[in-house]
Amino acid sequence: MTNHFRTNWTKEEITEIFNSPILDLIYRSSTVHRQFHDPREVQVCTLLSVKTGGCPEDCSYCPQAARYHTDVKVHKLLEVDEVLTKAQEAKEAGSTRFCMGAAWREVRDNRDFDKVIDMVKGVNNLGMEVCCTLGMLTSEQAVKLKEAGLYAYNHNLDTSEEFYNDIITTRTYKDRLVTLENVRHAKISVCSGGIIGMGENENDRIGMLHTLATLPEHPESVPVNALVPVEGTPLEDQEKVSIWEMVRMIATARIIMPKAMVRLSAGRVRMNLEEQALCFLAGANSIFAGDKLLTTPNPGLVQDQEMFQVLQLKPRKAFQESELKTTVL
Ligand code: SF4
Repeated sequence: MTNHFRTNWTKEEITEIFNSPILDLIYRSSTVHRQFHDPREVQVCTLLSVKTGGCPEDCSYCPQAARYHTDVKVHKLLEVDEVLTKAQEAKEAGSTRFCMGAAWREVRDNRDFDKVIDMVKGVNNLGMEVCCTLGMLTSEQAVKLKEAGLYAYNHNLDTSEEFYNDIITTRTYKDRLVTLENVRHAKISVCSGGIIGMGENENDRIGMLHTLATLPEHPESVPVNALVPVEGTPLEDQEKVSIWEMVRMIATARIIMPKAMVRLSAGRVRMNLEEQALCFLAGANSIFAGDKLLTTPNPGLVQDQEMFQVLQLKPRKAFQESELKTTVL
């Protein structure tokens, strides 16, 4: 999993890339994309909420935080069989990665964690890349998950360190970085990205990308989300980000972290096909399928199948590391 890419980017360098004329930026990111990935290949992932709502954290964008009054239907941890049935269905619909999300502050060593371990084993046995997003994780818990067959762990930075406290106060930026370290240490593939459209400025977007690209190793997976405002959350009235803002994020992420899977995540539901095509051109190479992304709406299967047809995309297989070129960029 070791890569050989630059991890010493300066904020100035990233700012210059981020602010370059948009067509130049897309041309450059597209070129990098073609160097390290098959540009027609897009990985389809499914994200299932295995435990929904009632979360003690205060993430301002999240309808699952217990303190906000939203329409989210709270449910306790699903049964293992139920989750495995959903994973099988997702596989049959073309997903190669199955991510399970639980609205927890952190993983606790209890029966629920044992159940998650069984879920991980079961999904792994289906031949899918299995990913979890369960909140903060100790290094011992990370090792247990790895031993059960966990392929990747998602833990987003969400935004820049500077803007972070405007969005979340119940855990620190440092806490997040420690979880990422624990995941990396257990040799689990790291998935970490963030959300734009929460009221942050461009420096915050650049700051987040800078933190990700200067970790000791780049995350293998970088989800870029556009906020989907949910009624009842503090960010319910945020304006939609423009497609150009998404494209700038995706293109910059692609250039500075060439090998990462850049995932066009939340917010697709508010993009048309042409806008999504621009994101793929800029270097995005993964989407989440299914009409729900945890709790927020997402385009349906038929719509995505049509998109794959029109754009002549092909689904990426599981566990397929594209050829790692050893060039140091
Ligand atoms: S984003 Fe995660 S940690 Fe934050 S409130 Fe939502 S479920 Fe809890």
